[in-house]
Amino acid sequence: MKPQASIMAHAARNLGQIRLNSTVKTTSYDPRKQEIPEHSTLFSMIQPTGMFHLGNYLGAVRAWKDLTDYAPDSTKLIFGTADLHAITIPKPAKDIRKFRSEAIASILASGVNHERAIIYHQSALPEHAELNWILSTLAGTGYLNRMTQWKSKSEGLDNSSLGLFAYPVLQAADILLFKSTHVPVGDDQVQHLELCRTLAESFNKQFGKTFKLPTTLLAPTKKILSLRDPLKKMSKSDKDQNATIYINETSDEIAKKIKKAVTDSTSTHFNYDPENRPGVSNLINIISGIQRKSIQEVESDISDFKDHKTFKDYVCYVINEEINEPRRKFEELVQNSNYLNKIVQEGNEKARAIASVNIKEFKQKVGF
Ligand code: ADP
Repeated sequence: MKPQASIMAHAARNLGQIRLNSTVKTTSYDPRKQEIPEHSTLFSMIQPTGMFHLGNYLGAVRAWKDLTDYAPDSTKLIFGTADLHAITIPKPAKDIRKFRSEAIASILASGVNHERAIIYHQSALPEHAELNWILSTLAGTGYLNRMTQWKSKSEGLDNSSLGLFAYPVLQAADILLFKSTHVPVGDDQVQHLELCRTLAESFNKQFGKTFKLPTTLLAPTKKILSLRDPLKKMSKSDKDQNATIYINETSDEIAKKIKKAVTDSTSTHFNYDPENRPGVSNLINIISGIQRKSIQEVESDISDFKDHKTFKDYVCYVINEEINEPRRKFEELVQNSNYLNKIVQEGNEKARAIASVNIKEFKQKVGF
């Protein structure tokens, strides 16, 4: 197949294009060129609610890996499992324990360097909950009510909780607890980051300048969509397991899911047209994300393909090439709970050392 030989070389050349997005500007950001400002603090988390999927990988953890490889030495990198967020949709304790441990294994398996970044569990730091309370006194319920993720997550629940509703306030507290300057996330999180900036501004206004307004670093890959309903995002919580590709799945499982992925019979050629061909476009976006190529380059690579089988086989090939190594490392790491615990213990201590100093300052400003 024409594109195969060049895949890895091209990926290596194009490491780490991250788009910088703030309220007012969007610009190109490349950690290889050390464009991340010196002395910045980069912070991000992922919910331990199940195995990581391609969206988590391309939208989050692969960008974290790039940052541990390329951000200047003076930057602080802090990554965590958002286990306080994970219980906003209740789960058995044994599942939470398993998912937390798997999340650490997945972060490390994706190549995030724990010697360069702090990796910790959110619930190990009571300071998150303390700042959450302070910020919740500044957050408008009308604003929270407009959050699209709350709308979609609460849909169909008989009794959605206050925790689920107020989740973005805790997310803002997570970020601001470390006085983070940059937050690498996927583009499903843009709205929550806007709220975080609004709360930081409100705090500064009410209690005196404390926070720089954090900048959203958007991973270059557009949102990865469900394979079964390409109008929804790919998510761990999707009930249809054929909708989501997890990074520890075997090549056979992946092949079955890609075979069942919704496409169309508009043409036997494959082009990017999210409005009219959302399924095909999602698969092209996955290839483009993995190979770090533009959509146009991918379209040109696959222009010879004349049937769905060739196209889908190629998608499987590209996914497997990318996740072979993370999958192998994950299986190895997940057996070694002592090692995972040790990494997290170290991370918890380092994170707490920063958070405990900061929370003292915030509480003092509030008048405590
Ligand atoms: P999920 O919705 O699967 O539970 P999380 O809320 O834990 O995922 O998100 C963790 C990170 O993964 C965030 O940075 C988020 O932007 C990114 N992410 C989640 N789903 C997707 C997706 N479908 N496409 C791109 N990025 C995603």
